[in-house]
Amino acid sequence: MTFSDFELAPSLQQALTDLEYTAPTDVQLQAIPAALAGKDLLVSSQTGSGKTAAFLLPTLNALAMQDQPSLNARLKNMPSPNILVLCPTRELAQQVSQDAIKLVRHVRGVRIATVMGGMPFGKQIAQLKGAQVLIATPGRLLDLVNRRQLALNEVDALIVDEADRMLDLGFSEDLEAIGDLAANRKQTLMFSATFADRIIHLAKRMMKADPTRIAI
Ligand code: AMP
Repeated sequence: MTFSDFELAPSLQQALTDLEYTAPTDVQLQAIPAALAGKDLLVSSQTGSGKTAAFLLPTLNALAMQDQPSLNARLKNMPSPNILVLCPTRELAQQVSQDAIKLVRHVRGVRIATVMGGMPFGKQIAQLKGAQVLIATPGRLLDLVNRRQLALNEVDALIVDEADRMLDLGFSEDLEAIGDLAANRKQTLMFSATFADRIIHLAKRMMKADPTRIAI
């Protein structure tokens, strides 16, 4: 099985060739086709398993498959990303962001913004303008929504990375608030090291009734 067996846009395939990713990892093999089919996913997988590309590739694919509105058109409106990735920590948000930048390098007109706590607001607000992909920590994200610098009504795909650490860090209420703000989304993907009861409980509150479960 190779990446060309997935129905990914040529621009994403090109990035995978550049990165010398030849074979999909286990989590990618299972998660990519299910996510491309529009399913909600609850995935247990560890760091190092290739989980980041497993959620970025199928969600970025929707952007890669269609021409993006001009930047000028996008700049006129309140920033409102189409893909939202929530990470528990700054370090993880930066890492996911670096991976996303590498994967979209051949996709025209896609902007990625990264917002997280402990960084100055000004630069983050500037970055949000015209960005279709947003990678964020929950607290800072809600802060920006409350300051009316960001709306979540155009989010199509919501990804929760390291859901177990999110709960450890006390983000449960923030996650639910973000889920409510992104109520128009078509898809939710949740990744966690385990399927502990509290994760299943969170998934029930944030996802369609019957997400596809993938255990690696
Ligand atoms: P992650 O589990 O997402 O933190 O990924 C772990 C590492 O594996 C990252 O450095 C990725 O760049 C790399 N990686 C992800 N998918 C593949 C793949 N299919 N082939 C080779 N390396 C990969």
